[in-house]
Amino acid sequence: MFAYSHNDYYCEQVALADLAHRVGTPAYVYSSAEILTNYRAYSDAFADLPHTICYAVKANSSLAILAMLAKAGAGFDIVSGGELYRVLAAGGDPSKVVFSGVGKTAAEVEYALTSGIRAFNCESEAELALIDAMAARLGKQASFSIRVNPDVDAATHPYISTGLSQHKFGIAIADAPAVYARARQFRHLVAEGVSCHIGSQILDLSPIQEAVDKVLALANTLRTEGHPIRHLDLGGGLGVPYRPGENAPAIADFVKGLRERVQASGLAVTIEPGRSIVGAAGILLTRVLYRKRNGEKEFMVVDAAMNDLIRPSLYRAHHEIVPLRRNPVPPVMVDVVGPVCETGDFLARDREMANAMPGDYLAVCTAGAYGFVQSSNYNSRPRAPEVLVEGDTWRVIRERESYSDLVRGELI
Ligand SMILES: *Cc1c(COP(=O)(O)O)cnc(C)c1O
Repeated sequence: MFAYSHNDYYCEQVALADLAHRVGTPAYVYSSAEILTNYRAYSDAFADLPHTICYAVKANSSLAILAMLAKAGAGFDIVSGGELYRVLAAGGDPSKVVFSGVGKTAAEVEYALTSGIRAFNCESEAELALIDAMAARLGKQASFSIRVNPDVDAATHPYISTGLSQHKFGIAIADAPAVYARARQFRHLVAEGVSCHIGSQILDLSPIQEAVDKVLALANTLRTEGHPIRHLDLGGGLGVPYRPGENAPAIADFVKGLRERVQASGLAVTIEPGRSIVGAAGILLTRVLYRKRNGEKEFMVVDAAMNDLIRPSLYRAHHEIVPLRRNPVPPVMVDVVGPVCETGDFLARDREMANAMPGDYLAVCTAGAYGFVQSSNYNSRPRAPEVLVEGDTWRVIRERESYSDLVRGELI
């Protein structure tokens, strides 16, 4: 939903240069239509198969976005008590929340139980014991899935690959039957699912399909052993294209592959997509501050930095950078860098791109997932505002931080 009309870059029917002028830069802008289209692509593709789409909150946890997805019927995959708080604040239904993560604290488990979430995706036996004890204290039954580690290579960046036996996540799939068997001693736990999530930004479906086959085989074994397994949680991880010409599987094709495998089992399916719902739905607006040359290198210094969008620095991620007003000048080869005092502060390196000059606005594309949520106040930079576009209207869904926000809670 981001495109040029004549030479102006638009989000839906909003001209982004006008928006940038009004809200200032840096600023995140999201397309509500793109988010809902992606969400519906998932729900439509599942159609009659019993399913829950638990949007992975960590990809983009803005309340307005959670509220929009909750209204569309989404459940949520959370990885902390803070994310549960956000989901509830946005009007999300706790009975559609699954709680993932390798280090849940007792306080988080208690909060989740008292809120009435649907299930815990457990990653160790000690965690099962904690949830059982907490559920006993509260007089509740807790549903759980064990997150199994299927030992498949998601073939993605090492920091976001999670399904190999060397990773901290899950319980080795070979050990899972014994763990489910021992979990029977926990009187306040119900083994109603099996879960896995092998990584993020996955562009080749075969590792996910391999994992699904392994998880499905395990679920069938567990059922014959008398465990009340009712659903499979197949995680998230579908990638999005970041570079021109890069291809990501369509959501419909991804789901079709899952359906074909799972349908005969009669199990309900939960999936936890994050990036594939919000990634392409957001951009980071920035403005060129300076141009400079050091020796052979030409730099474009912009007002957004690694504290606003860390993906290029952290994962060497590629984000296209395009001008909000196209002009016919030949492209240049530059490093696009921010004001943060680190050589690692760059948005692009050795990039052939539009020859933007001081004062010109740029859009850093495909920044809707793992963008704002990973932003920080490093260098005491106030965090950017977030704006949600809906057709020809837009509204600020998170205000730009002020200097007083920067020191809130500090004591001398
Ligand atoms: C991060 C995460 C997701 C979402 O991954 P995406 O690549 O954004 O779809 C889903 N499930 C779990 C357990 C996660 O940690």
